[in-house]
Amino acid sequence: MPIHAMAAHAAKKPLEKFQYEPAPLGPHDVEIEITHCGICHSDLHLIDNDWGMSTYPLVPGHEIIGIVKAVGPEVAHLRKGMRVGVGWQRNSCQQCEFCQTGQENLCAKMGATCLGNYGGFATAIRTDSRFAFPIPDALSSENAAPLLCGGATTYSPFRLYEVRPSMKVGVIGIGGLGHLGLQWARAWGCEVTALSTTPEKEREAKGFGAHHFLNTRDAGMMKKAAGTFDFLLNTVFAPQDWGALLELLRPNGKLCVVGVPSEPITIPGFPLLLGQKSVVGSVIGSRHMIAEMLAFAARHGVKAQTETFPLDKANDALARLKANRARYRLVLTV
Ligand SMILES: [Zn+2]
Ligand SMILES: [Zn+2]
Repeated sequence: MPIHAMAAHAAKKPLEKFQYEPAPLGPHDVEIEITHCGICHSDLHLIDNDWGMSTYPLVPGHEIIGIVKAVGPEVAHLRKGMRVGVGWQRNSCQQCEFCQTGQENLCAKMGATCLGNYGGFATAIRTDSRFAFPIPDALSSENAAPLLCGGATTYSPFRLYEVRPSMKVGVIGIGGLGHLGLQWARAWGCEVTALSTTPEKEREAKGFGAHHFLNTRDAGMMKKAAGTFDFLLNTVFAPQDWGALLELLRPNGKLCVVGVPSEPITIPGFPLLLGQKSVVGSVIGSRHMIAEMLAFAARHGVKAQTETFPLDKANDALARLKANRARYRLVLTV
């Protein structure tokens, strides 16, 4: 049975209907009938070949939710009929130091769901079952799809960098990633501030769990907030005044980058040294982190705020995301 998909055939071109015959089901593989697929900012970059690594035809989509339709002979933890999710990573070597220590997201041989493979803007996908995660019943497919990439990306830093409930946390940018970051931080027990250049977003940010709102264009507010944050999570893709963000940190504070900035990050030396501050990164999440994130979301009611589009209207959805009009995460329904 061919898989029906939406694919870009060249950089910056609209998606068109496309079909392909999937590879034979491997021993560890599952076939998933896709019901929902979130749209991540990375999908836009892949379609446009912004990172110079796209291959065409390119079927985007790495925030997949669907139902298991077939399992390979070695698959023990998934059965036909289960609802599962798949994120950015589709496999890893299972042998290296990082795979063996539960950090598969750092594996040099990791495979990507929609880069070099056909992704989730499709009716189905065949992929490694070890990177397919059962979805807790408490999460709706529509609200859970964006957790597979956006959720993992914003949750992992809290664990990797040992954010504690007593800490003051700031989430920079109230968008597809930031609205999830605020929810994690609030559920974590932290004192939460939303940082944004858009004062109109204050009410919504507080709805997602922010106790405070800091307009980063307001010099007075920025001065008053200097030296008050333990942890800042940057979810913004646009260039930032990195020095000003460092000034916001307390001694030993960390600034964690999860949105891929479009330009190099320039860090002034003295504000980094004085106060022993760190600028750190985090990329998606390991397998156990994703499973833990889904359980945490189910327990604490963390969910993506979504708008849906049918799969064949994927181009309309991409245009909405490109125009910065997504509130806050777009999901294709199949
Ligand atoms: Zn993504
Ligand atoms: Zn590995």
